[in-house]
Amino acid sequence: MIHEQIQMVRRAIKVATASSGRDNGSVRVLAVSKTRTSGEIRLAHNAGVDNFGENYVQEAVQKIHELRDLPLTWHFIGGIQSNKTKDLARYFQWVHSIDRANIASRLNAARAEFRPNDPLNVCLQLNLDDEVQKSGVSAHDAEELLQHTRQLPHLRVRGFMTIPKPRSNARDTRDEFRRTAELFQKYRDISDDDWDTLSMGMSNDFATAVAEGATIVRLGTVLFGPRGSRR
Ligand SMILES: *Cc1c(COP(=O)(O)O)cnc(C)c1O
Repeated sequence: MIHEQIQMVRRAIKVATASSGRDNGSVRVLAVSKTRTSGEIRLAHNAGVDNFGENYVQEAVQKIHELRDLPLTWHFIGGIQSNKTKDLARYFQWVHSIDRANIASRLNAARAEFRPNDPLNVCLQLNLDDEVQKSGVSAHDAEELLQHTRQLPHLRVRGFMTIPKPRSNARDTRDEFRRTAELFQKYRDISDDDWDTLSMGMSNDFATAVAEGATIVRLGTVLFGPRGSRR
């Protein structure tokens, strides 16, 4: 039952924030609803979740339409193709996965068209270990991308998103979260008050991510159960 899973996740977040001296209210649960039906999302909303994350634009837009009677906040967390930026700017409140300047510029232009008075919240996706198969900006190029993005008036740059390298060793994952948090702190100085978001931690490692400073955890499996083998 999703209700019990959500209670369990909230308890784990409470323990992780308490043990690291953080405020329990500083962590937001993002339910990753890729491959889940609108019915499952309704149940999750009944159980108290308002923020949902999607990876595939077409699938997401259909569900956003079907659920428009609910006060949900939609986050895009997947890889971005430039021909999808219009739909992202039109239907989402957040995009976590900006990794290049041209995508930021296109989102800015599209947001100006669809919601000129409501900037799109965005995070820059970091790829700290330069894994070739993964999207994200390197630590080396992050500052340039940040400087570009923060000048775009229809985007509100909130922080970093990261997906750690798959590892067998939990200590290395913790280390990657810590390095991400350090970079996040470093850019506090050159950013506005809006720079307040660290999107890191998934079903397997969210408690560690919270201990290292995550403000949004992105949870699929632990809330909804295993996904089909497809994704
Ligand atoms: C699928 C996905 C998640 C959720 O993964 P779980 O392990 O099921 O919690 C989180 N973040 C991103 C970017 C994803 O693609």
